[in-house]
Amino acid sequence: MNFQVNKQGYYGRFGGAYIPEMLYPNIEDLRERYLAIMNEPEFQKEFQELLQHYVGRPTPLYRAKRLSEKYNATIFLKREDLCHTGAHKINNTIGQILLAKRLGKQKIIAETGAGQHGVATATVCALMGMECIVYMGQLDMDRQRPNVERMRILGTTVVPAMSGNKTLKDATNEAMRHWINHPTDTHYIIGSVVGPHPYPDMVARFQSVISMEIRNQLQTEVGNPYPDYIIACVGGGSNAAGAFYHYLQEEHVALVGVEAAGKGVDSGESAATTALGKPGVLHGSKTLLMQTPDGQVIEPYSISAGLDYPGIGPLHAHLFDVGRVQFVSATDDEAMEAGIELSRLEGIIPAIETAHAIAALSKFEFTPDDIVVINLSGRGDKDLETYIRWGKY
Ligand SMILES: *Cc1c(COP(=O)(O)O)cnc(C)c1O
Repeated sequence: MNFQVNKQGYYGRFGGAYIPEMLYPNIEDLRERYLAIMNEPEFQKEFQELLQHYVGRPTPLYRAKRLSEKYNATIFLKREDLCHTGAHKINNTIGQILLAKRLGKQKIIAETGAGQHGVATATVCALMGMECIVYMGQLDMDRQRPNVERMRILGTTVVPAMSGNKTLKDATNEAMRHWINHPTDTHYIIGSVVGPHPYPDMVARFQSVISMEIRNQLQTEVGNPYPDYIIACVGGGSNAAGAFYHYLQEEHVALVGVEAAGKGVDSGESAATTALGKPGVLHGSKTLLMQTPDGQVIEPYSISAGLDYPGIGPLHAHLFDVGRVQFVSATDDEAMEAGIELSRLEGIIPAIETAHAIAALSKFEFTPDDIVVINLSGRGDKDLETYIRWGKY
């Protein structure tokens, strides 16, 4: 089966570029040039050098002995939490800022929910000396104060989005509006495998360094590059896309995406998109979306800000459609317990997004020979407040 995006920007029945006419020239320019730029030897050299010396790649593939014992499997953790700024997101922002320079752009805009993508973008803009504006919902700014201040320390202007629920969806709308008004000098760095074509494909390619490294590291560790399972949490789906990418064709490798079930899939307060979603258009692409029967987007809910999104990227919607990726979900409670468990068993406090992937372990029957790779997308420092409020440790 072919899982690559086609010329029109579709993965099966999902994807495309549903954008206002004012953005056509920008998206068109990006679409025509992104692959050629990414394939330039000079681009690759600069990208790889920054990944190595600035981000800290390759990240370790760590054999988690005590976790393995507990779940009767051979479990490896891909340590994206050790990336500079604490999560996988910077793999993409480094790639996109190098691309923006080659497109001749001087300014960067981004949207952010919890602030992690905003911080990763502010970081690379400081690194490259580029002007940066990050749109963030007013409510999220109040909830994620430390990340707002991090961005400001890094020299970024954080602009509150005051419309709608004052969260991620509204910040994305504001960023789009800004881009429409400043199309020539500005590049919009989208933070996940979402948005109009070519963003989902471009972001997946930048994140695919994760599965490239897993292949090499497993070859060294266990003598072949193929695990039995790869498990990753899915918000928009960028860390999962990166962890799955170089295994999509290897159907004997089971790929598992973990969504946030919030207070329960049927509670009305969740972000379990594949369980609840129907095809619809959001932020420039056709994908699976949580929506009312008349097509209004339903506000998602998860204890984890990074998974609190009403859709998933079109690649994942397609992988779900054709059965290549199995989707499961974990509730707030299951994720918090799994986060504490990983802390106690391995001395690693995960991001609460990541804790959802850990929580999926209990939903499978493994044998000791099963090689399971969990993509440890981020570290828990940013979530200390949430752990404290949860309190059961
Ligand atoms: C943003 C984030 C996620 C969710 O985003 P994806 O695009 O689905 O990867 C997951 N984990 C961490 C640590 C994050 O910061």
